[in-house]
Amino acid sequence: MKKTQFFTIILFSFIFIFPCLLGLCFPRKPNSIPGNPQSSSDNAENFTVSCLNTKTNSVSEVKLEDHLVGVLAAEMPASYEVEALKAQAVAARSYILSKLDKTNPEHPNAAICTNPAHCKGWLPESEAKEKWSDKEKNAYWQKLRAAVTATTGEYMLYDNQAVEACFFASGGSRTENSEDVWQASLPYLRSVENNEYSDTTLSQTTFSAKEFIQKLNNAGTQLPLGTAPTVSDISRTDGGAVASATLCGKTFKGTEIRKIFGLKSANFTVTVAPDSVTFDVIGNGHGVGMSQKGANSMAKDGKNYTEILLHYYTNIQIVKM
Ligand SMILES: [Zn+2]
Repeated sequence: MKKTQFFTIILFSFIFIFPCLLGLCFPRKPNSIPGNPQSSSDNAENFTVSCLNTKTNSVSEVKLEDHLVGVLAAEMPASYEVEALKAQAVAARSYILSKLDKTNPEHPNAAICTNPAHCKGWLPESEAKEKWSDKEKNAYWQKLRAAVTATTGEYMLYDNQAVEACFFASGGSRTENSEDVWQASLPYLRSVENNEYSDTTLSQTTFSAKEFIQKLNNAGTQLPLGTAPTVSDISRTDGGAVASATLCGKTFKGTEIRKIFGLKSANFTVTVAPDSVTFDVIGNGHGVGMSQKGANSMAKDGKNYTEILLHYYTNIQIVKM
């Protein structure tokens, strides 16, 4: 064999054969998360995510399964039924996994944060226990951990992507379509029936005529403070929330009205009196995805967490990491 031929064979081996052999010895992770190339472990128990603690402003790599116990403590009452807590664990896991392949301008160095208004809320064990009585402390933390452990690695999938599993505290007789609250129409966030029995959160807020006009002016109108309040042309979404309404001649989306007047949800009726305006509000939250009170009601009815998730998230699959 000529010297040049020998080196050609060696070079060929380095470029083509050795990498293939290495591939056989170290195959690609079989269960990396679809749509989430950053998945860092084959093993759900050891799967980690980078998390920005917004209280301490520090980023750390946390075990997802441990982190989820603190998410449950922050996001759902620990007194809720076990099956509702399990549904919440799977929903929160799916939501977090859905965020992993997206860059986040608010925290580019971390996949998720602990700000409930941005990603998902989270409480360390010590803080969670401060919320509970002495009798409840250990039992509740163990209950939350059990809900996470019972569903280890389980999350929801739609079209090979982790489901952005939104949820909210309480709603009316139906949930909302995602596009009626935000921009995107997600096929698994459809308006479905919601039964919270007599447990639905109801609230009432009254504003004087002057306060009502002031709040509208803060939102861009330029009305004299003596203007008489008027509310007309109320249209509603499939879920029953206000889609839009005209307040003193200007048309707002229901979600804008919720924000302007600090209402618990956009599902409201309005009563206009000569010198005041009263909002009667049904539910608490945006109304998209799983109602937590609804999930608790279904669990009390004997439904398991799979049935709860399949009800609130349309045409999803529950899979394991
Ligand atoms: Zn965040």
